[in-house]
Amino acid sequence: MTKLVVGSATDVGLVRSNNQDQLLVSPGLYAVADGMGGHAAGEVASSTAVSALAAAFEATDHHTAASLESAAKAANRAVWEQARTNRSMFGMGTTLVALAVVERQDGTNGLTAAHIGDSRLYGYRDGTLKQVTVDHSLVQELVDDGQISEAQAAVHPQRHVLTRALGVEPNIEVDIIDLAPRHGDRYLLCSDGLPREVSDDQIAAVLSRFSNPVEAAKELVAVANLRGGNDNITVVVIDVLASENSPDTMIVVPSPAVTGPTRIVPAAPKAAVPRKARKAPAPKRVTFRVVVFVVALLIVIGGAIACLGWYGRSAYFVALSKDRVTIFQGRPGGVLWFQPTVVERTRDTASSVLSYRLQVLEAGQVEPSLAQARQYIANLVAEKIEAEGNGKPLPRGGPHHKRAAPTTTVTTARAILAPPTTSAPRSVTTTVRTTTVARRTAKG
Ligand code: MN
Repeated sequence: MTKLVVGSATDVGLVRSNNQDQLLVSPGLYAVADGMGGHAAGEVASSTAVSALAAAFEATDHHTAASLESAAKAANRAVWEQARTNRSMFGMGTTLVALAVVERQDGTNGLTAAHIGDSRLYGYRDGTLKQVTVDHSLVQELVDDGQISEAQAAVHPQRHVLTRALGVEPNIEVDIIDLAPRHGDRYLLCSDGLPREVSDDQIAAVLSRFSNPVEAAKELVAVANLRGGNDNITVVVIDVLASENSPDTMIVVPSPAVTGPTRIVPAAPKAAVPRKARKAPAPKRVTFRVVVFVVALLIVIGGAIACLGWYGRSAYFVALSKDRVTIFQGRPGGVLWFQPTVVERTRDTASSVLSYRLQVLEAGQVEPSLAQARQYIANLVAEKIEAEGNGKPLPRGGPHHKRAAPTTTVTTARAILAPPTTSAPRSVTTTVRTTTVARRTAKG
């Protein structure tokens, strides 16, 4: 009689926003799947895979290595069908590593593993950890070819690229590994989130320290998070407790109680990602790019408002307000919420300027500066005075005039005003005309 005792844990990790890993712990069948695919597709892929695996495996009368293999292929087909018929799931896939109690041909029980992708099965015996599965990944191939070392593989930029994944093609080759368990053996199923953060030696240390498989699983997840938690972490620890070394009948016993504070992380369905063989890069909630974009956007918006504000407040205009010629700062009618304000209200009224100028003052005569606005008014007034002055006869000498200086110099300021339709800054030219008028002295 051989007993199996199981502990498991899964966690989203410290970087990712969702857990695309999925674990399966059912009597005689254990699995870990690590989904990939955009949005929720990775979660769908991994949960679909383990559900289909369990359903197909349970459906067989005799659980054998062959039935585990066909169950894995059924899982592949289920994920592939879903990806094929659902546009949003296109390209999704998942890893799968499973361990099952199977019947051997001689009628005894044994353990068989099925494996696709880079989730792993480790065996732990007599204090030594051995990786049972070989990753279906690009870096594994490079290591096998001797092109890079294991250490280089761990930091290789394409370490996420899988050479085989479940659900991306209608048919798939599944690695099937028969195991010869002995009393005291421990098996460890895990997603890549564990070995990516925790070395084999460190994993072995945890397995030796925690005899309770539930505690061991939780500790492995905790250590992976301590070392970065860059990916989802899922762990299943299976202890083999045999009364004798030849496994005959295997039974699964309930997981042992955990002493001390526990924090069981529920296995949530995970989301998945992309292309056939690429695993999702860790999505970050707020990326540096997003921050830069938002800051740049705020600068542009702020700059636009500042420009409009400057434009709105930079000019002056002359208009009639309550029959007074008035200088405003701003633009006639205002710009956005930058409304014109009164700067100076002069004593001049509509009657101080020529009537045809009133139309301009109605709309507002824009001037680039306060000084130029004042000058414009002065010119308007001068223009009117001169027009009235020209209409009067020059004084002539009369019989009662006293003797005066023979000549008098009269100076008249005259403005040459721009046409009323001109709104661009104009140079206002003021000329001084000197008129010499001869005055005669009347003789009595
Ligand atoms: Mn992963």
